[in-house]
Amino acid sequence: MTTFRAHLPNGFDLPKRLARLSELAYNLWWTWQPESVRLFGRLDYDLWERLHHNPIRLLREIGRPRLNQAANNKEYLGLFDRVFTDFDSYMDQTKTWTSQTHPELNARPIAYFSMEYGLHETLPVYSGGLGVLAGDHLKEASDLGLPLAGVGLMYAQGYFSQRITEDGWQEALNNMLDFSSLPALPVLDDTSSSLSAGSGDRMTVEVEFPDRTVTLGLWEIRVGRVPLYLLDSNLDPNSDSDKQLTARLYWSDLDRRVMQEMLLGVGGVRVLRALGYNPSVWHMNEGHAAFLTLERARELVEAGNTFEQAIEKTRGQNVFTTHTPVAAGNDEFPLWLIEKYLAAFWPQLKVTREQFFDIARHQMPQGEMFSMGILALRNSTGRNGVSELHGQVARKMWHFLWEDKPEAEVPITHVTNGVHVSNWMARRLRMLLDLYLGKNWLEHLDEPDLWSKLDEIPDFELWEVRQHLKRKLAFYMRERVRDRWKHGGFHPVQVVSSGILINPYALTIGFARRFATYKRASLVLSDVERLLNIINRPNMPAQIIFAGKAHPADEPGKQLIQQVYRQVKRAETGGRIVFLEDYDMNLARYLVQGVDVWMNTPRRPLEASGTSGMKAALNGALNFSVLDGWWREGYNGHNGWAIGEDKELDSPTVQDAQDAESLYNTLENEIIPLFYDRDQREISHEWIARMKESMKTNIPQFSTRRMVKEYVEKLYVKALSTPSLARAERSDSEVEAGRGRE
Ligand SMILES: *Cc1c(COP(=O)(O)O)cnc(C)c1O
Repeated sequence: MTTFRAHLPNGFDLPKRLARLSELAYNLWWTWQPESVRLFGRLDYDLWERLHHNPIRLLREIGRPRLNQAANNKEYLGLFDRVFTDFDSYMDQTKTWTSQTHPELNARPIAYFSMEYGLHETLPVYSGGLGVLAGDHLKEASDLGLPLAGVGLMYAQGYFSQRITEDGWQEALNNMLDFSSLPALPVLDDTSSSLSAGSGDRMTVEVEFPDRTVTLGLWEIRVGRVPLYLLDSNLDPNSDSDKQLTARLYWSDLDRRVMQEMLLGVGGVRVLRALGYNPSVWHMNEGHAAFLTLERARELVEAGNTFEQAIEKTRGQNVFTTHTPVAAGNDEFPLWLIEKYLAAFWPQLKVTREQFFDIARHQMPQGEMFSMGILALRNSTGRNGVSELHGQVARKMWHFLWEDKPEAEVPITHVTNGVHVSNWMARRLRMLLDLYLGKNWLEHLDEPDLWSKLDEIPDFELWEVRQHLKRKLAFYMRERVRDRWKHGGFHPVQVVSSGILINPYALTIGFARRFATYKRASLVLSDVERLLNIINRPNMPAQIIFAGKAHPADEPGKQLIQQVYRQVKRAETGGRIVFLEDYDMNLARYLVQGVDVWMNTPRRPLEASGTSGMKAALNGALNFSVLDGWWREGYNGHNGWAIGEDKELDSPTVQDAQDAESLYNTLENEIIPLFYDRDQREISHEWIARMKESMKTNIPQFSTRRMVKEYVEKLYVKALSTPSLARAERSDSEVEAGRGRE
């Protein structure tokens, strides 16, 4: 029984009939229910847009007259009642996939740790794909009835907003988040026990560093049936610099980075314990959370085990997902830095300095490092990469940890990423599928047979929905420009560069992702004159929309944005190549739903998986990508296009040149002509045939429905049944004994 509770603020002046809107605003379930989105939006669409789809602010700022109007509008009340009937039956559902397929999981919660979560644009505690994947994982866990709890950090400033200057230089704006308008509930200590001494009634936990202790407060985010707990160091007992530890995502100075990761790993375990959880699976989404394995070991050492026994007993329950295909991409810290922050831990683990370093020592050219990847790999039993190719790459990369095994038997498997379908699919498309796939198709979306019914959709109906979505994207770009223009300081060249001249009927290609150099955003611009000839052909215009942020400390990434922007600005593009500022989940939604083609040009095999192309595919866009990550598995020859071949070359320059040649040829000779191959109704049936083929093959496979089920079956269930778990039954009581000290 937990004595802690998340506190739901009441401060909304709502008509009685609509009182439950505030409850909905605090459960992110609404974000993946198109009808609930409408329930908020319909109250005042302009305000809804202006507030960036924040229902809490909307309910606070909209004013009583409009709410009263809605409370007396029959149509609105009908929508309201439908949404709450769905919400209640979702929250109360007892027959879920988990209860029917894996009832053994029911009393055995899964703890999921991630440094970032992409759940909605109003909660900017994500920087990119890793976070969005974690957010989709939670949403799907909720849908499947999986007893999972997420753990992460709450960043007082969130991730930065991006502005692009007239000269193409990225500016980062960091604003303090207003917690009172976030769907984050402070977790309070009902009993006001000793845990929270000196911090009012917030529930707190502590993490010790050698010279001080940092206190963490806790926020709860409700993701359907799944709780997400976010830790926050911005509390009064802490010094000003400790308050800053959770101010931003991924501090680039290593000191703060180590401390952040300790707060997540060590603080996260303590929070779950304080809330009364005893998880049976501990899933680390990337190595940032790997310190959790040490905190779990410490619990058992405290209960009388040796360090080796403690690791042995806990390892079977730990699951580690790696996302990084290059050794240098994993977080690694110099040993002296680890000593500076973790020395206090050694006596508690009953290990010496050298024994401690041996757990994760990594010999690198620059010297010995402490590798979070190695820590996580050594202390887990379930380990996976995020696509088939990435699994291979990971087995090769980490082979030295299992020298006695052949590379193919290195115990790292793969679970290819997926995306949460109802979160990313456009409402209009979903309505069309409701008509042809049957009302409850979402419950069967990972069954390939379901998708053969797509053939029954008349081409023109699908085309019409696609046209609608593309127009929506074009008008959205326009409204963004209008807003920037009105506020002044926006140069005309920025107006053109932001998509004002986009033709909503021309072939539109999207390229949006983090600007890291391996993603080769400028590959398509490597021969600009050729590209301009291709996109400016008479009667066959094509346009390219770029978007993406570079990490503020990534100078080459920012230069890449500038390089792209300088081409975007040229008059010769005719306004057909544009760059949209401030890529976030909202812009991502418009792009993946609105473009015809989703292009991705990573340098193989550095993509690991990628997920944005999956979001585009489920909305009917066609992928045009390097055979890396998920697309190497998704591409079948008729459901999109490949850039380059299914292999890597030794020379990156030769690889770039060959990939660019392949890209231009396919764009010029296949993609554009196919799009404009129209019948008398101005429809390209061949294009739509490819679209249907893409949806049929990609949606069931690259959904989080398939992905989370695979995590359960390949990794979670196995963690439950490993021999070490039988001993962990005993260790439960040891943990209890250990906690007794509190
Ligand atoms: C989906 C998504 C990503 C990840 O996309 P990639 O395919 O990995 O480039 C990044 N940022 C946002 C905002 C997203 O929605």
